[in-house]
Amino acid sequence: MEDCIFCKLANGEIPTEMVYQDGLCACFRDAAPQAPVHLLLVPKVHIQSLNQLDVQESELMGHMMLKIKDIAAKEGLENGYRVVINTGADGGQTVPHLHMHILGKRSLQWPPG
Ligand code: 5GP
Ligand code: ZN
Repeated sequence: MEDCIFCKLANGEIPTEMVYQDGLCACFRDAAPQAPVHLLLVPKVHIQSLNQLDVQESELMGHMMLKIKDIAAKEGLENGYRVVINTGADGGQTVPHLHMHILGKRSLQWPPG
């Protein structure tokens, strides 16, 4: 999608340090980290949010979920971490390209604000 910052980052149009990438997804560091480790895992194709997912994305979503533990291990998150998918206005989504926040290296509170 044109003018989507995460499409551009995920597909290398805007250079960034990749923590992980393959043909389907990319993982890079959040520009405004909320924890010592704060990563964003995104699909390379443009999907606006969880609400736009269809059954044909099942494999892609499963693929991304299964990558998280490897990315977390590489980042030294053996003490635990949190995965967050903000969705829509009340969910706090500010970038309209589906992304999984991976936060770690500090003790996170619950419930979130
Ligand atoms: P949301 O609020 O949509 O769940 O999360 C969007 C996240 O993207 C925020 O944590 C924000 O800091 C991050 N972000 C916004 N623009 C950029 C950018 O250009 N580069 C990177 N690396 N992160 C960004
Ligand atoms: Zn996009």
